[in-house]
Amino acid sequence: YTSVNYNVSRGGFAHLQKQHLYFFRDLLGEHRMISDTIELEKYNVDWFNNLRGCSSLVLKPKTTQEVSQILSFCNQENLAVSPQAGNTSVVGGSVPVFDEIILSTELMNKIISIDDTSGVVVCQAGCVLENLDTAVAEKGLMVPLDLGAKGSCQIGGNVSTNAGGLRLFRYGNMHGNVLGLEAVTADGNIIECLGTLKKDNTGYHLKHLFIGSEGTLGIITKVAIQCTTRPTCQNVAFLGAQNFRKVLKTFKLAKQDLGEILSAIEVMDSATMEFIGEKLNINSPIGDYPFYLLLETSGSNTNHDSEKIFKFLEIALNSHFILNGTVAVEHAKINALWSVRERIPEGFNLCGHLFCYDVSLPVENYFILVDEMKIHMGSLADRVFGFGHLGDGNLHLQIETKEFSQQIKDHLEPYIFKRTAQFGGSISAEHGMGFLKAKYLNLARPPSTVNFMKDIKQMFDPKGILNPYKVFP
Ligand code: FAD
Repeated sequence: YTSVNYNVSRGGFAHLQKQHLYFFRDLLGEHRMISDTIELEKYNVDWFNNLRGCSSLVLKPKTTQEVSQILSFCNQENLAVSPQAGNTSVVGGSVPVFDEIILSTELMNKIISIDDTSGVVVCQAGCVLENLDTAVAEKGLMVPLDLGAKGSCQIGGNVSTNAGGLRLFRYGNMHGNVLGLEAVTADGNIIECLGTLKKDNTGYHLKHLFIGSEGTLGIITKVAIQCTTRPTCQNVAFLGAQNFRKVLKTFKLAKQDLGEILSAIEVMDSATMEFIGEKLNINSPIGDYPFYLLLETSGSNTNHDSEKIFKFLEIALNSHFILNGTVAVEHAKINALWSVRERIPEGFNLCGHLFCYDVSLPVENYFILVDEMKIHMGSLADRVFGFGHLGDGNLHLQIETKEFSQQIKDHLEPYIFKRTAQFGGSISAEHGMGFLKAKYLNLARPPSTVNFMKDIKQMFDPKGILNPYKVFP
């Protein structure tokens, strides 16, 4: 790791001194600080093993007060801080770039209340998404967010990235599901907006500034989430289609005929299936087709939902929208079909190198970029493939190469982002800007908007200690 690789220079922050360590030790005790090089490794390196910071200190507060005291001290001493939750960021948002202190929320994992009438859960930011969902399931509820990283990511990380995931199509994003939150700004000020009401128009909706701000405006310490009633029956259909035009026809038909019970609609191309076949030995459950769709329904009446999905399939087959399909109604088979889609990222670390892009596009242009990148990359790429959340127009575009090379990266970027913008898309659909996309913010937003964002940042964090080098170019 060198700053030269990243092409950024360290900000004028203070370097960690002994007296700083004494302060943190008095506040947290030695067992909630990590300074051992080997133990630090997993906090300094990102999920994909692509980025590496060189922080020499991880702090693990348990309470909002402790977060407040840490930030107030860091602000006073001009020490930079990198907030970290589950460290599953795909854009290098969660690891330090230089020697920022890592503030980990992993011990802030208490569930404060679950109301099974209103469906509201209030918890600390460090609750692991899957654990939170398991806890609310006991009350017949479901956290409306679901993603492949659910076993590691934390709700604070999800809120800070405005995470999307597999069921955004049905339940909407975090801006809709977070009823309230509590956050601490850079100077240690605690901003309390932890309301649990659905309707509350008293003044500015400050919570929205923290949702999706990727740790640059403050550290989220508590959240109130509107859970949904847990569905009691589910069906999953795995379908094969001849071309993308027919995928779109199937998508439209599914919305019409499955209506309120449709809870997820995912797509992948044949190159994705080849990729998971090769790396993970996962094969298509229905034979080989140019495109695959995974559709999920969730409801409360098994007969009603099954009748609907089988009727939908019959029409889709008879209209030649799809060539083949299978439906799962039992838990084990549902999981097996979902795992074809959810396990794709497991193959990422088994490549020479994989350039991953998370973009959203108007749905009719969804696969245009994949086709175009195959031509644009030519022999530079071993494989170009695409999959993602079709229901939200969110494409995960992947370019597999033998190894990382700056020349290939320069061939890809900013080309990919410019084309995305030209097709009417967004250069960051659900993962945020983090460190990797920060330099392209100006491509996505006009100067006056970026300047206004900078003014907000300046107000919340005048010294810029919170997650420096992230989001902004
Ligand atoms: P981290 O990665 O630790 O942090 C993410 C960002 O939030 C960083 O900028 C960090 O500084 C900041 N942050 C963390 N906690 C706080 C806090 N309490 N206060 C302020 N800032 C904070 N993402 C999707 O949206 N949809 C998907 O379907 C999806 N699938 C994924 C599948 C896999 C296998 C993997 C590895 C990742 C996937 N992701 C997905 C990306 C990632 O899981 C999400 O961005 C997730 O929300 C990050 O949560 P985290 O707890 O790991 O946060």
